[in-house]
Amino acid sequence: MTLTAPTTTIRCPATALVCRNCGAEYPLTPIHACAACFGPLEVDYDQALLASVSREQIESGPTNLWRYVGFLPVGQVPESRISLNPGLTPLIAAPCLAAELGMNSVWVKDDSANPTHSFKDRVVSMAATAANGFGFRRLACASTGNLANSVAAHAARAGWESTVFIPSDLEPGKIVQTAVYGGRLVAVEGSYDDVNRLTSELQETDEFEDTAFVNQNVRPYYAEGSKTVGYELAEQLGWRIPAQVVIPVASGSLLTKVDKAFRELVAAGLVENTPWKIFGAQSSGCPPIATAFAEGADVVRPVKPTGIAKSLNIGNPADGPYALDAIRRTGGSIVHVGDAEIVEGIRILARTAGVFGETAGGVTVACLQKLLADGALDPAGETVILNTGDGLKTLDPVAEVVGPTVTIKPSLRSAREAGLLD
Ligand SMILES: *Cc1c(COP(=O)(O)O)cnc(C)c1O
Ligand SMILES: [Zn+2]
Repeated sequence: MTLTAPTTTIRCPATALVCRNCGAEYPLTPIHACAACFGPLEVDYDQALLASVSREQIESGPTNLWRYVGFLPVGQVPESRISLNPGLTPLIAAPCLAAELGMNSVWVKDDSANPTHSFKDRVVSMAATAANGFGFRRLACASTGNLANSVAAHAARAGWESTVFIPSDLEPGKIVQTAVYGGRLVAVEGSYDDVNRLTSELQETDEFEDTAFVNQNVRPYYAEGSKTVGYELAEQLGWRIPAQVVIPVASGSLLTKVDKAFRELVAAGLVENTPWKIFGAQSSGCPPIATAFAEGADVVRPVKPTGIAKSLNIGNPADGPYALDAIRRTGGSIVHVGDAEIVEGIRILARTAGVFGETAGGVTVACLQKLLADGALDPAGETVILNTGDGLKTLDPVAEVVGPTVTIKPSLRSAREAGLLD
């Protein structure tokens, strides 16, 4: 018997970048758009290598997202990882939430438990590790808030520089949580889509030539990090796929990658091929994909975002058509809810599951209710909802409607007068 863990070398399964639009192939470099048709590039894999990933390999790996490295494009050499080691966040049974909504079985996947308190640590771990491999030592991004937190923190941990661009009207909590890590934080007077356009232009300048923009030049690698949510759901349920998953949508990347993860798990024989349905959740202040779905359209028309769910406020979603495809192909749906319903969704999740989600979590719960009311989601089917960020990041909308039940003097008499002894 030896106490040292067996060292197994896991080969990198990524083989190329491939255009999702025309299928053109490119080497694994820091590019994200097809030179022929401007379509988005995606990492392509050696399917036989993906199919050889075993449960044993995963279960003997680290207790974070790197246990799935056999399915990932980067990080096979542990020393190469630039990562806060997020992942393996709690999957919480929520029977009181299920009872409140008249459902059989609901789980909350709580990604607020990640190091910077949102699911974005997953994608930044991939982007920063890819950047490291390409020789970059500076990170940048355009962010709706959570990405800013994660990029600044990853750069701080690595001892790298960061330049983070945000819309200037972001929530104070998200601004502080980014600024505290000490990188450059640039507030831009405009929407996220304006910020994103600016960073695309900056990326072409000499000053930013040696910078990895996590959701631009290294976006194909970034996006693969979202697959780890899907692997975790299956593993945490005892290696099976839930029947229904409700996912908050900004660019649509997370939603498409959860579906992709399930397909990879089936192909690898790690789970049975049981059917699943993918549902999307948007806010009425920014519902471009839900609108296209409702109209039966394939093209997603950009909108000008408004409303409190700022982390989801991408008016021109890069993965819109692919999100629509995953939703339609699996028999799911995508709906949107207004600000008052979002605040109520936050409160329901907190009151029935003990999970305080940010506005995106409120969007997800409120959309779950709407999907049930529409008859699109089966109340008897096992359902997972994703809480992708922490409520402490977006206190303001909730602070307006909750507070102390009563304020009393420190005496029994005062307690009695307040009815606490009745
Ligand atoms: C970024 C983000 C999402 C979804 O992002 P996609 O761009 O659709 O991948 C969901 N929830 C929160 C809290 C986010 O910050
Ligand atoms: Zn192309």
